[in-house]
Amino acid sequence: LGRHKDDDRPSHFEYNGVRFGQDTFNVFAGLCAVDNREHVEMMLKAVRDNGQVCTRMGAYKPRTSPYAFQGHGKACLPWVFELAGKYGIKVIAMEITHESHLNEISEALHQTGNPTGVMLQIGTRNTQNFELLKIVGRQTEMPVLLKRGFGITLDESLNAAEYLASEGNRNVVFGLRGMKTNMGDPHRNLVDFAHVPVVKRLTRMPVCIDPSHSVGTRAAGPDGILDVMHATAQGVAAGANMVLVDFHPVPTKALVDGPQALLIPELPHFLEDVQIAREAY
Ligand code: PEP
Repeated sequence: LGRHKDDDRPSHFEYNGVRFGQDTFNVFAGLCAVDNREHVEMMLKAVRDNGQVCTRMGAYKPRTSPYAFQGHGKACLPWVFELAGKYGIKVIAMEITHESHLNEISEALHQTGNPTGVMLQIGTRNTQNFELLKIVGRQTEMPVLLKRGFGITLDESLNAAEYLASEGNRNVVFGLRGMKTNMGDPHRNLVDFAHVPVVKRLTRMPVCIDPSHSVGTRAAGPDGILDVMHATAQGVAAGANMVLVDFHPVPTKALVDGPQALLIPELPHFLEDVQIAREAY
């Protein structure tokens, strides 16, 4: 992926008709966690109506508390994929936390006739789960969104990406999602989007930003602009190739991370802002 630049392999890949590279740009707006069919359908319709073909939908949720909603898992995959097909979604970013999820997703995609594709997300808690990385690297060519570990160095996270590549899967997008600090920050994590150009300089990977998990709140500045929007603009203007962002039709009813979700009527404005930041880049 570029840590050991020993050849001039292309720095882009295509999956299910969508191109990913250091010169492409895709927005993955969607639900942090799949909750019910009605919300999923509202979200997918909004994504389609706003000209997008990618989304995020979490089925397996890694939660801090064992008593919190853990995601519907395998059970929701058939109807989520079926609905995604109905709305012309080409790629869904979906986190996996265990190797068995890889097979569950592949089987459900197959059984529903591959109406859509999945970008496997490996979250910040599993960045250095080397056995999971090796299995994903070996067993699939599905693209992988590997999030930066929230408490390790950038170098360690980039080496984690190499675990995927060294086992055979080079279709990797690197995700920045903020870092933990003990400073009592107003945001859930310290936004690290100044590292977008750094990762692009050091590797061949396209870089994703996740403003929702970085900021963690719908708080707005004195200008009335949501901090999530500000962070997004910073990351996109810095050259991000992908934005993973949480929306929800009724955030108060979201089962995971409702307080950071944007509202569906805000999607057109969000995409316009992103376009302006992209032009600024
Ligand atoms: C997520 O994207 O749903 C998530 C849990 O992200 P992270 O791994 O960055 O916390």
